[in-house]
Amino acid sequence: MVLYADFEYRQQKNIINKYFFMNNVPGNKIKHDSKYFEVADGVWGMKDIFVNFYMVSNPTDNSWVLIDAGLKSSATKIKKMAFEIFGEGAKPFCIILTHAHFDHVGSLKKLAEEWNVPVYAHYLEMPYLTGKSSYPPPDPTVGGGIMPLMSFAFPINPINLWNRLSVLNEDGNLPGLPEWKYLHTPGHAPGHISLYREKDGVLIAGDAFITTDQQSALSILFQTKKLMGPPKYFTYDWELAKQSVKELMELEPEIVATGHGKPMRGTEMRKSLHNLFNNFNDKSVPMGGRYSEEPAVADATGFVYIPPSAVNKRAVALKLLSPTAVAATIFLLLIKKQKKNPHSYGY
Ligand SMILES: [Zn+2]
Ligand SMILES: [Zn+2]
Repeated sequence: MVLYADFEYRQQKNIINKYFFMNNVPGNKIKHDSKYFEVADGVWGMKDIFVNFYMVSNPTDNSWVLIDAGLKSSATKIKKMAFEIFGEGAKPFCIILTHAHFDHVGSLKKLAEEWNVPVYAHYLEMPYLTGKSSYPPPDPTVGGGIMPLMSFAFPINPINLWNRLSVLNEDGNLPGLPEWKYLHTPGHAPGHISLYREKDGVLIAGDAFITTDQQSALSILFQTKKLMGPPKYFTYDWELAKQSVKELMELEPEIVATGHGKPMRGTEMRKSLHNLFNNFNDKSVPMGGRYSEEPAVADATGFVYIPPSAVNKRAVALKLLSPTAVAATIFLLLIKKQKKNPHSYGY
């Protein structure tokens, strides 16, 4: 425990050195050129700025599947990672989406076209992938840090991929991944899915819950490990989100890999997952948030009801002029810096 805490401390110190003083950081063990990390046997992940995507191999025929497609900036990184893991000219059997928020589909169109591969998603996520419906507006009032305040600028418009898109079978099976099943885990997005490999308890949970505080720019920057509910600014139905956490908790997974944050594992992680569910209403649901009292409602055509905004725009504007705005600017500058420097940290 002490050793682990010490390791975390050193990691954070190194990151502070790297980002704030731009020193060479001695002793940082960088395993791969493209900085992907291994989650479990045949499962790899990589973070681009603040979001993760995963590659999962199929041992029966050595093919592989890409889970989610990151940001617009992620395409080159994804291809490099594929090259390093699977070799020259590697392309996946298909791309499977946990959901279609902008930070999970940024490079989707580009990669699907370039690789000429199909894209699979849950049928309730189709409207946002076929240009039919936007997601509900993000809720900047959820509190907890800079990200919600900046969320008004996050894209919610659908993309259009209709010619490459296929609906996942409702039986829970996944194309190209015979050892895996998916669970429908809505609340953060209507057709959100989580992927589970029972034989060794590996769970790719998307944003159904996450392992860093996605509201806080500092947590994102340092990738501080903390098991949290789904990112608050995009979650449209907190009761559904809670039920989804319950279902995933009941799997009693061994390893969890999420859309944001580093993978977590073992007894401590399971304890945190139980705590997350047991305290969900108090700790995860934002007080007075737009979707806290009344959810937005979606069906197979997209969103059909969105509760009225209680946002006091002047209050948000004043907040943006506060010291938080200064911190936000620093965060954006750091992201820009990180973009120029392709190195990011594994775990
Ligand atoms: Zn999301
Ligand atoms: Zn996300």
